[in-house]
Amino acid sequence: MPKQKACKKCKTIFSGAKCPKCGSEEASDAFKGRIFITNPQESEIAKKLKINEKGEYAIKT
Ligand SMILES: [Zn+2]
Repeated sequence: MPKQKACKKCKTIFSGAKCPKCGSEEASDAFKGRIFITNPQESEIAKKLKINEKGEYAIKT
């Protein structure tokens, strides 16, 4: 399994050269915690992290 990283801009967890969501190459492989947001409109955590798309995110990058 390839090593996973978390985008420092949008917190998306991904593996590869750059973030599939925002295209940023700034990523941290020492991120802490992960959450899966399925309904960003109704999630308090999603609001706090400013997430508006469903997906897997790091809590802290
Ligand atoms: Zn990103």
